Amino acid sequence: MNTEIATTESPESTDIAVRTAVQMLNAGEAIGLPTETVYGLAADAFNEEAVGKIFEAKGRPKFDPLIVHLPSKAALADIAVVTEELETIVNVLTTQFWPGPLTILLPRKPGVPDIVTAGLDTVAVRMSEHPVFRKIIKDFGRPLAAPSANRFGRISPTSAAAVLEELGGLIPLIVDGGACGRGLESTIVRLEPPEDGNVTARGKKKKARIEIVRAGSITAEDLKNFGIVIRPKRSARAVPGAPGQLASHYAPGTRLRVLDDPGDFTPENGKRYGLLSFRGEAEDGYLSLTHWSEVAVLSPGSGKMVEAAIRFFFLLRQLDHSGVDEIIAEPIPDRGLGMAMMDRLRRASTQAADGE
Ligand code: AMP
Ligand code: MG
Repeated sequence: MNTEIATTESPESTDIAVRTAVQMLNAGEAIGLPTETVYGLAADAFNEEAVGKIFEAKGRPKFDPLIVHLPSKAALADIAVVTEELETIVNVLTTQFWPGPLTILLPRKPGVPDIVTAGLDTVAVRMSEHPVFRKIIKDFGRPLAAPSANRFGRISPTSAAAVLEELGGLIPLIVDGGACGRGLESTIVRLEPPEDGNVTARGKKKKARIEIVRAGSITAEDLKNFGIVIRPKRSARAVPGAPGQLASHYAPGTRLRVLDDPGDFTPENGKRYGLLSFRGEAEDGYLSLTHWSEVAVLSPGSGKMVEAAIRFFFLLRQLDHSGVDEIIAEPIPDRGLGMAMMDRLRRASTQAADGE
């Protein structure tokens, strides 16, 4: 299959890209689209055959459910059931974070195909803030199922070139919307209403529980004003009851190890090592460990989480291509977006793939 790339450099080329994308979605194709998090592989959520093409192109197992993207907040009612007890927290979160990288797990409407939710009685919903994605989904007019546009278990793509590398020849179209502005996947949350009603005996509003099932672009700190935030467990193991939270994920072809302590590292003779460093500062103790064949720095000098997140998958991909025998990752401070990056690194590490 020939993979066409549609650019969005001018208003004219954007119009053509949007029109072509909508035509293909209407024809039941799965296509690569930019979002603010990472590139997605999108298809009509209500067309089982089209959704099947997502699984086929990605090589994704059918037990791993997909996120459904909405054309508008009003479309939430077509997909999910917002129970009375969850209404307040859902309204608060969607007002605050939609459009944006927050995915909410909710009971699904019966019409949502099983293939989208892997047969679960919940559905994952979000609304992208990417201008090109929004144009396409608005013109298409219906929800799109869209996981990340990479082969299953591999590094998520944050540019059209990365999608082409992953899925070139397997999908008919990639819309190039430039580099992703956030660089990490959406945060997935499960909600629980306050126990015994929304208000206390004294009439005070009680807080709902917001459980983070996948750390991502919206941080625990961003969410904490709106409910009781439950952080994800640090383990790289699969989370029971949350299919798709697989231990091995985001993995480069090259072996990767997170070095929690510089003392854990003894280089082997003749092996070429690449370092993924957070700030690239010598005093952090990793730069001086060995003669690195490659060094990639997430946020040179300053250690800014937002910058590190944007560059994260791009640099991981670059290190993967550099021909080193093993990638060594320095730990990133486990707060804010660092939590999401550490989650990706642990899942990408060979120890996780080995089922440690
Ligand atoms: P991706 O779109 O590739 O970033 O992955 C989507 C992820 O969302 C899946 O791997 C699951 O972890 C999660 N997910 C999607 N739908 C559900 C659901 N109904 N229940 C629990 N987790 C879900
Ligand atoms: Mg993914």
